[in-house]
Amino acid sequence: MKKYNFYAGPSILSQYTIKNTAEAIADFAGTGLSLMEISHRSKEFIAVMDEARALTKELLDVPQGYDVVFLGGGASLQFCMAPYNLLETKAAYLDTGTWASNAIKEAKIFGQIDVVASSKESNYTFIPKNYLIPADADYFHFTSNNTIFGTELRQEPDSPVPLVADMSSDIFSRPVDISKYVLIYAGAQKNLAPAGVTLIIVREDALGKVTRQIPTMLDYRTHIKKESMFNTPPCVPVYAALQTLKHYRELGGVAAIEKLNLAKAQLLYDEIDRNRLFKGTAAPEDRSIMNVCFVMNDEYRELEDEFGKFAASSGMIGVKGHRSVGGFRASIYNAMQIDGIQALVDVMKSFEKAH
Ligand SMILES: *Cc1c(COP(=O)(O)O)cnc(C)c1O
Repeated sequence: MKKYNFYAGPSILSQYTIKNTAEAIADFAGTGLSLMEISHRSKEFIAVMDEARALTKELLDVPQGYDVVFLGGGASLQFCMAPYNLLETKAAYLDTGTWASNAIKEAKIFGQIDVVASSKESNYTFIPKNYLIPADADYFHFTSNNTIFGTELRQEPDSPVPLVADMSSDIFSRPVDISKYVLIYAGAQKNLAPAGVTLIIVREDALGKVTRQIPTMLDYRTHIKKESMFNTPPCVPVYAALQTLKHYRELGGVAAIEKLNLAKAQLLYDEIDRNRLFKGTAAPEDRSIMNVCFVMNDEYRELEDEFGKFAASSGMIGVKGHRSVGGFRASIYNAMQIDGIQALVDVMKSFEKAH
């Protein structure tokens, strides 16, 4: 039976990425050595890092004056690293979920945090609108895709101050106007690579403005200057990221990928809305095209366990919802193809027929 990977993260990667990385683990760039044992200072690996940075710039149309950095520490490290480097007195944050509130908690260590709006009271089922961003904030931080709650901000909010975004779970899913941001960060394990590396896009002239001292490793300027080679980078995840980026270029870039993503999400949401057993949890206008959250309709609640087992036994892996939402979550990142969505839809239809 074919298995489809709906895990939220680490999550599905393209066969292109997996196959090429496996080959390089056996023999990297014709060196006769494994990617796992080669020096990061070798010319072969430096070429990988350079190409990964260049291809990120190409795919996301990163303007002049911005740098692309690959770092360890996960997106969670960026929750403190961003304010460490950018927050002098006050910053504005939008609270749209668990990751956003984790970012808020860390930022509070560094200055005054103005939480402009929160949907916590409704268990983050929607993205707040019509809030005011103070013009004297150093930046406005938001999470573009709320991986756990299945909501997404696919258009930048109007802001009088520069934007900072956690794009861990929707980076490369669509074009982004980078010029509106001073910083974008994304853990790799959703749309890019295995866990272990974080992608950072940072505007150089936004740095060096805070008066505090920044430890060397936590200062973006260190890693910009050393081209992501200040210390040993996570070589295998960076190599895998490069394969994914090459694959994205072959697919026609992020605009072409967005079209595929919209069609995939539509197919699944249409079934959720049609099927009498299920309902979506996120407000329709804020639905994520990466993480699709749904539950059993109230009158079918007792079927939840049974559907979970039925889906798993039909090859649908990782469809269980996060504990803070319950029900089900299908993560349909870039590497998920439409046949996987169709397979899940078919499983939902046959479960409906049986009940
Ligand atoms: C997964 C995720 C994180 C956490 O990433 P780590 O690499 O585990 O620190 C943060 N933000 C978002 C939006 C995520 O999806």
